[in-house]
Amino acid sequence: MRTIDLRSDTVTRPSEAMRSAMAEAEVGDDVYRDDPTVNKLEAYAAELLGFEAALFTASGTQANLVSILSHCGRGDEYIVGQLAHTYKYEGGGAAVLGSVQPQPIEFEADSTLSLAKVEEKIKPDDIHFARTRLLCLENTRNGKALPLNYLAEAASFAAAKNLRLHLDGARLFNAAVKQQVDARKITRHFDSVSVCLSKGLGAPVGSLLCGAKGFIEEARKWRKMTGGGMRQAGILAAAGIYALTNNIDRLAQDHRHAELLTAGLTQFEALAVENDPAQTNMVFFSAAADTTAALAEFLRDRNILISPGKTTRLVTHLDVHPEDIQYILAQFAEFFSFQRRP
Ligand SMILES: *Cc1c(COP(=O)(O)O)cnc(C)c1O
Repeated sequence: MRTIDLRSDTVTRPSEAMRSAMAEAEVGDDVYRDDPTVNKLEAYAAELLGFEAALFTASGTQANLVSILSHCGRGDEYIVGQLAHTYKYEGGGAAVLGSVQPQPIEFEADSTLSLAKVEEKIKPDDIHFARTRLLCLENTRNGKALPLNYLAEAASFAAAKNLRLHLDGARLFNAAVKQQVDARKITRHFDSVSVCLSKGLGAPVGSLLCGAKGFIEEARKWRKMTGGGMRQAGILAAAGIYALTNNIDRLAQDHRHAELLTAGLTQFEALAVENDPAQTNMVFFSAAADTTAALAEFLRDRNILISPGKTTRLVTHLDVHPEDIQYILAQFAEFFSFQRRP
């Protein structure tokens, strides 16, 4: 029996059709900008997200890093969420490699950053302070799509305060599909946007950074410096083109599966399920620590993988099939009926 892996959408594997596209890709040396498939992916992504240019990167971490390094110089500062990927989960790269100081602030419950709180943190022009240069948002965050009117407010705020605006859009297309809008309705508010190909879109490797032409040229230099100048990368870019042309609309299926899981899990008294209508492909629940650990072990014996934690996150993706949802809920039911026995 196959394993149903709910730990993350990074676990998705390339399909047969994606592998064929990779095998057949025309390639060249991308550092010479001779790889036609990389060039095609970058042009296609720029068009799809409404920017002048795009850059294919090894990972989302690299896309965000080269973006911050391109927006900010030594002694500059970016304002970012306390639990944001671009602050907490990227090894402090902007500070380590760019001498760029992060100024983290708490996220609001809806995963926005309060613009009033951001304003308080903007440093005046004074020899004591770093120069506040950039505001970073994340969409989706914990599966939540940022409200479109908030994005418009953030954009006019950033313009008024002379800040650049970057979006960590690792799961941008989950937000666009959930909100039933063209992705450009989201991206048009930003100076730069990163997107992961290797999560719910199902590519094995790669992310994209989009922005204006001059900005992307700067980012290309930083990508080279950070070891991301890849040669016959068209093999990987072909997977990205396949992902962008075949795997966006189907994200709605993952969202449906997350809704079904939410509804199903709510029935178990031992679980506190976060029931937020704005969720995309993630379900969060909490329970007593020993319960979650025992649950994870019980499920693993039944070919279901979860990462138990203080809050446990289940992530749906293209390798979770419709029939799996009933199976998963049945295993939870079995676990909790065992638990009730003396
Ligand atoms: C996954 C992720 C990234 C990038 O991660 P990589 O593993 O480096 O590709 C960036 N931001 C968020 C919110 C993510 O979930």
